[in-house]
Amino acid sequence: STHAELQVPSLGKVTVPVGIFINNEWSPSSFKETFATINPATGEKQLDFAHGSAADVDRAVKAARKAFKTTWGNNIAATERAAALNKLADLMERDSDKLAALESINSGKGVRIARDADVADSVACLRYYAGLADKFFGQTIPHFGKEKFVYTLHQPIGVCGQIIPWNYPLLMWAWKVAPALAAGCCVVMKPSELTPLTALVLCDLAKEAGIPAGVINTVPGLGATTGDAISRHMDIDKVAFTGSVVTGRRISIAAAESNLKKVTLELGGKSPMLVFDSADVEEAAAWTAMGIWFNSGQDCCASSRVYVQEGIYDKFLAALKKKAETVAIGQPHDEATSFGPLISAGQRDKVLGYIETGKKEGARVVTGGQKWPKSGGGFWIEPTILADTTLDMKVVQEEIFGPVIVAAKFKTEEEALELANTTSYGLAAAVFTNDARQATRITAALDAGTVWQNQYALLHAGVPFGGFKQSGIGRELGTYGLEAYTQVKAVHQNL
Ligand code: NAD
Repeated sequence: STHAELQVPSLGKVTVPVGIFINNEWSPSSFKETFATINPATGEKQLDFAHGSAADVDRAVKAARKAFKTTWGNNIAATERAAALNKLADLMERDSDKLAALESINSGKGVRIARDADVADSVACLRYYAGLADKFFGQTIPHFGKEKFVYTLHQPIGVCGQIIPWNYPLLMWAWKVAPALAAGCCVVMKPSELTPLTALVLCDLAKEAGIPAGVINTVPGLGATTGDAISRHMDIDKVAFTGSVVTGRRISIAAAESNLKKVTLELGGKSPMLVFDSADVEEAAAWTAMGIWFNSGQDCCASSRVYVQEGIYDKFLAALKKKAETVAIGQPHDEATSFGPLISAGQRDKVLGYIETGKKEGARVVTGGQKWPKSGGGFWIEPTILADTTLDMKVVQEEIFGPVIVAAKFKTEEEALELANTTSYGLAAAVFTNDARQATRITAALDAGTVWQNQYALLHAGVPFGGFKQSGIGRELGTYGLEAYTQVKAVHQNL
């Protein structure tokens, strides 16, 4: 079946889609399998979703190809694409309370955060790309004299597979779909098997916004089956992925082994904060706390390592501890909650395992380290600080993807940079100092796709985002994000 009933705290009983969305229509899985989702706050089963097969992915690709050729990619003006994206943004805003409630029950995040951050930022992303759709131009190159010149066309890549994770289901959907559609691409989207709900609800809104059949096709399913079928499909021109390094590597291999489809990857991070003696300790602690405990630490650019100059190390840790102990932990449906459960029992156990490893490796637990006492059947872990860590520790090198920050002190700038740059990741970093020249110097030397100075985790649809080193390939957002869904044709004119 393609729809089911779900009891949602602020909405009552609602009918939600659980099927496959192709050509603006719902269908069940061709191999009639389903997979279940679990409510992270209770540990109880929530819904059964259609598990898309390779044949379903193929149907979705055919629909996308047809739409690309006949409507969206070739016969619709950029201004019309912009209008449809703006209309979708309007509908998301109209349904903001409903989307936030569903996102919250789906992922465990606090409903207020889901509304004010996830839904609002998704709407902003759609509007940004609606605005950019008809303002993305090629060049004219007067290379061969006055009569012959070269111009470039920025053409949409075509049919794009999009595979997204569970930590920001709505926002990652918007980051992927908005630039692809603005560029004129058609998509086959696979949401995470842990959080497929809101991506499916958005399909109906996209249809209501007038986005033609075949432009957004959504096939829920597992990574190893549905995701792999997307990565290997011979008629998908590009795959855009956000998730773990392990999966990113698999997708790259599958793409290379099939039709060499283009690949962009947004992967993990282990982002360092460098706090120098001249920094405002309270402010630096507040930004660090927000960076690591927002979304319960399940954030690719979480501030998961903090290096503090020796003069303020103890003072900084005391300030950060205070922040940890006043984080608003609670139930997702409570408006006051900013810190909800982790996504799954598996993720909770993985994080607890890291905390144990950290202790064995010699790290000092400053605060936290346990399941939240009121967890019940849910998957909460307390905000945790592991101090006095060293570079060789697993907890310092590996992404924990939970509410655990590791800390250590440094003496000199050189030492700070050595600590910051000695990981395989390079997604984000921050520098806290009162010295503008020092900030500029450090920023230039950090291996990171984003550097925040005296602040953290501020993102905007107009600002490029992506990783150095194993944190990814390519950039999302901004004009770079649109460019990633186009290809350039150089036209040598001789008329
Ligand atoms: P994951 O890699 O396990 O899954 C992400 C998506 O990939 C899911 O939709 C999953 O079904 C799919 N997938 C899994 N195996 C696949 C395969 N073999 N072929 C194709 N698709 C497959 O990651 P996750 O556990 O959902 O998310 C956590 C990880 O994602 C963390 O490491 C985190 O850092 C990273 N992340 C990065 C960003 C970013 O923007 N850089 C954002 C969010 C999360």
